[in-house]
Amino acid sequence: MLQAEQIRKGFDGNEVLKGISISVNKGEVLAIIGPSGSGKSTFLRCVTQLETVDSGAITLCGETLVKNGPDGKAVYADKATCSRIGLRIGLVFQNFNLFPHFSVMRNITEAPIRVLGKKREEAEATARELLKKMNLADKADAYPYQLSGGQQQRVSIARALAMEPEILFFDEPTSALDPELTGEILKVIRELAAEHMTMVVVTHEMKFAHDVADYVVFMDDGTIVEQGKPEQLFDSSTNERTRAFLARYH
Ligand code: ATP
Ligand code: MG
Repeated sequence: MLQAEQIRKGFDGNEVLKGISISVNKGEVLAIIGPSGSGKSTFLRCVTQLETVDSGAITLCGETLVKNGPDGKAVYADKATCSRIGLRIGLVFQNFNLFPHFSVMRNITEAPIRVLGKKREEAEATARELLKKMNLADKADAYPYQLSGGQQQRVSIARALAMEPEILFFDEPTSALDPELTGEILKVIRELAAEHMTMVVVTHEMKFAHDVADYVVFMDDGTIVEQGKPEQLFDSSTNERTRAFLARYH
């Protein structure tokens, strides 16, 4: 579903991703963990086209987004292919990023109507189903400011799902939330995992990553220090940097 090979990205000569290779199969959940500044968000932003890579290759849903040209620099697919790939993936941010002046219903239906050309009734019916699934059936007419952070985040998950993505990316979906609201978001992601939604989740919730991820990548300083099954990484890593990082969470 996602293959990223040797992704490199720098800002003003400072290399932030130093050759990141990751692959995610259909139906799998990949967790990315690592200290602040290690490049986790930058990697997600590169894969979701919010940033461009300097070099490396990315294939999403069987389509090549970018690959290395003869000079070793990244060459992107044409515009139409890039936007088509963009429509096949979803992204949920740390800070919800809902449209503040739109109701919950309109937040969810806007893109399916405008971008996918869905009929309003159909988009609204889907939105109602998603809201029910997110335990927010009674909030369709509310505005974001009337909702708790956890509720806003569930709306933004519903909004992403309304576009029927083949793979869903989360960048620290719970880090802006109080601990008691974190659980409800993690529960939603667990449910999506049980339905075999393909997901890449950047998270500081180690227990969640341990329980839900099929595969875990530990990034530090723009490189992948270690990757493997959660049992291996969390319970029996022999890597000093991994162990030192995880020790902070116990
Ligand atoms: P956190 O856990 O704090 O979210 P992160 O692992 O997501 O950290 P990134 O946000 O990817 O880290 O940042 C990696 C490095 O890249 C940091 O040193 C950051 O300052 C730098 N960086 C990210 N975006 C930019 C940018 N647009 N311009 C310049 N530097 C940037
Ligand atoms: Mg980040």
